[in-house]
Amino acid sequence: CLYTQGYYFYKPMPVENAIITSGGVKVGEIDPKTMASKKVPGLYFAGEIIDVDAYTGGFNLQIAWATGKAAGEAAGVFDGTIKEIYFTHRMREMQTMIPEKHYAVAVDGPSGAGKSTLAKAIAAKLGILYVDTGAIYRTIGYAVKRRGVEPRDEAAVRAILPELEIGMSYEADGEQHMLLNGQDVTREIRLPEISMYASAVSALPAVRAFLLEMQRDLARKHSVIMDGRDIGTVVLPDAEVKIFLTASAEVRAQRRCLELEQRGTPKPYDEVLRELNERDYNDSHRAAAPLRAAEDAIVVDTSALDFDASREALLALIRERLQ
Ligand code: C5P
Repeated sequence: CLYTQGYYFYKPMPVENAIITSGGVKVGEIDPKTMASKKVPGLYFAGEIIDVDAYTGGFNLQIAWATGKAAGEAAGVFDGTIKEIYFTHRMREMQTMIPEKHYAVAVDGPSGAGKSTLAKAIAAKLGILYVDTGAIYRTIGYAVKRRGVEPRDEAAVRAILPELEIGMSYEADGEQHMLLNGQDVTREIRLPEISMYASAVSALPAVRAFLLEMQRDLARKHSVIMDGRDIGTVVLPDAEVKIFLTASAEVRAQRRCLELEQRGTPKPYDEVLRELNERDYNDSHRAAAPLRAAEDAIVVDTSALDFDASREALLALIRERLQ
C-alpha cells in the first residue's frame, strides 16, 4: 500500500516478502515513493493510514508496521499460509473510495444540525482534513468583541481586519485549534455570546471576502471536508460532494443544550431555541452568501437519526459520489 503526500495508491507486494514486526515508524525511515523501509529491505509500510500530512507534515507516527500475517490474523483468516493480504476494515474502505487526487466534501446547514461532529468523524475515517469554517468566523467575532467594535458596523470591522492574523493548527487531540494573532482562542470562541458576534460579522461582505481565499487555499492543498453555510454555494462550488445537513429546530436546540451542558455552560432550552431560530434567520436572509442548499447538494435530515446512523448515511453518500 503506497501513500505519498495526500495521494493514495495501492501496489500489491508478494506476500512472501512481508516481514512481521510492529511498533511506531518515523517519517525519515520510509521512502515516500514506495513506502519501503529504508532500514529493513523488503519491509513495506502497510498499517492503517490517516492523512495527517496536514497535522504533522508527514506520516502518522502512531501507525504501526503491519504485515499480511498480522492483518490476516486480526481478520481471523490466517491459516498458516499467507495467500492474500487482508486489509483492515478502514483500509478496505479507503481502497475503494480514495481517488488519487485531492477532493472536497462540502457540508452546509443551519446551526446544530450536527455538521461539525459528523464532519470531524468522517474526516478521521477518511483520513482527510476537517475544516470547521464556523470556527474561523467565530474567531473574527471574538476579535471584534474583544476590541469593543460593533459587529454590524462594516466600516469599523473592516478597519480592524488587517490587524487580524487568523491561524489554524491541528493538535494531537485532532481538534482544529484557532489562533488569533498567535494566541490560541479555541475555547474562547465557543463561549455562547460569541455565536451572535460570529453571525453578525459573517453577514459583512468584507469579512466573507477576507476569509474566502484562506478557505479555498486549504482545499487546494488538501483533501477536505469543510463545514459551514456557503461551502457548496460559494467557497467550493466545484466540490466533488455537497451535503446540506439539516434537522428540525427543536431537535437542533436539544442537541445544542446538551453540548452546552457538556461544555459546562448550560442554557435554558427556550433561550437556546430562540437564539437558534434568530441565527438561522440571520444566516439565511443576509445578502452576502446566505445559507442555502446548493442545487447539486444532497439534503440530509438528521432529525430522526442518531449520530452513528447519520455518520454511516453520510459516508455511504460520499462513497457513492466519489466513485
Ligand atoms: O457553525 P457555527 O455555528 O460555529 O458558525 C458560527 C456562525 O458563523 C454562524 O452562525 C454563521 O453566521 C457563520 N458562518 C458563516 N459561514 C460559514 C460558517 C459560519 O456565515 N461558512
